[in-house]
Amino acid sequence: MDLAKIRAEYPILDRKIYNRPLVYLDNTATSQTPREVVDSIVSGYTRTKANVHRGVHTLSMEATELQEGARRRVREFINAPSTEEIIFTRGTTEAINLVAASYGGAFFKDGDEIILSVMEHHSNIVPWQLLQQRIDLKIRVIPIREDGSLDMDVYRSLFNERTRFVSVCHASNVLGTVNPVGEIVAEAHAHGVPVLIDGAQAAPHLKIDVQEIGADFYAFSAHKMYGPAGVGVLFGRREMLEKMPPYQGGGEMIESVSFEKTTYAELPYKFEAGTPDFIGIAALHKAIDYMESIGIDNIAAHEHDLLEYTTARMLAEIPGLKIFGTAPGKCAIISFLVDGEHHYDMGMLLDKLGIAVRTGHHCAQPLMTALGIDGTVRASFAVYNTREECDLFLSALKRVSDMLR
Ligand code: PLP
Repeated sequence: MDLAKIRAEYPILDRKIYNRPLVYLDNTATSQTPREVVDSIVSGYTRTKANVHRGVHTLSMEATELQEGARRRVREFINAPSTEEIIFTRGTTEAINLVAASYGGAFFKDGDEIILSVMEHHSNIVPWQLLQQRIDLKIRVIPIREDGSLDMDVYRSLFNERTRFVSVCHASNVLGTVNPVGEIVAEAHAHGVPVLIDGAQAAPHLKIDVQEIGADFYAFSAHKMYGPAGVGVLFGRREMLEKMPPYQGGGEMIESVSFEKTTYAELPYKFEAGTPDFIGIAALHKAIDYMESIGIDNIAAHEHDLLEYTTARMLAEIPGLKIFGTAPGKCAIISFLVDGEHHYDMGMLLDKLGIAVRTGHHCAQPLMTALGIDGTVRASFAVYNTREECDLFLSALKRVSDMLR
């Protein structure tokens, strides 16, 4: 991999923060966007902007083709059986809300149970809790082991005749743990229970094959995979999507409307009410091309190298450091604390030295509670990060840690 060439595609990486070179290690929250993806957004606004699916004129047909081309690309990217099973959303959050409201709202009854894990992002907890306002729904929680891996024995023990759904992340945004999603799905299906996988942290780093995983639903966000904000994908198995009611009503999702009776459009449009972010969707296409041109395995191997290098040096050089999440094969995310030092203070001081890390609960408060902490500092890597940046991070961390001690 030619890192200098890769970095040259990201103008933001040339920024100085407090007169120091920016070291961007907040990739789990959002990754930066290369010029070719930005160019596609500019071209969408300057050359092809027209509303999709509504026009016979050239621009509208071009815009429609860009959107539908992106759908075909996403299908291929995750090896979904058909484009009808690819629904564009605003992101992972909206995708999960769609499934909770539509599937859960239609098929859950009082007394039913669903299974989540303790490491879920709030976006895979709160949508299910919203259902609890109407349905007496019990949420059962898979705990983690010491290293941050899911306790699969407990998982297996949580099923009973009232279990109706399982929803877990493919990779944790705090611990980096990559969950055994195939095994999770197989167990649920053995009980006749459908599964949603939140792939927000997996899609940027792992090759996704939804047929191999076997999940009924799979969700991810473009902005974490070098793409634009405000665009995401919900894959849903046709059999599930067909029996689900629409999530939102409006234009695009209907077949015919009258005040007496409205019928809905075919898949996937039944779930795509209103004008989508068709320019962002086309940019997601470019982001996928970008990732695959480098090779997802190459991206993952590079990030893994940075993870191992930085982890080893942090543990050796920073006294009192504790890392949360040490499961084998984890993603390139390091969540940590240093004895007696507050994560917020560390993040603030690191920023003054040009280092962008995230601090706080990372939208995973139940996990923080389970770990007995209120937050961590989190450094996470992407394709454009370098060992030199890891060195800058480590020396800044030493300085900050000494200062706070
Ligand atoms: N799920 C996980 C595991 C995440 O890390 C995130 C974002 O950090 C989300 C869901 C929510 O993604 P979005 O805000 O793009 O909808």
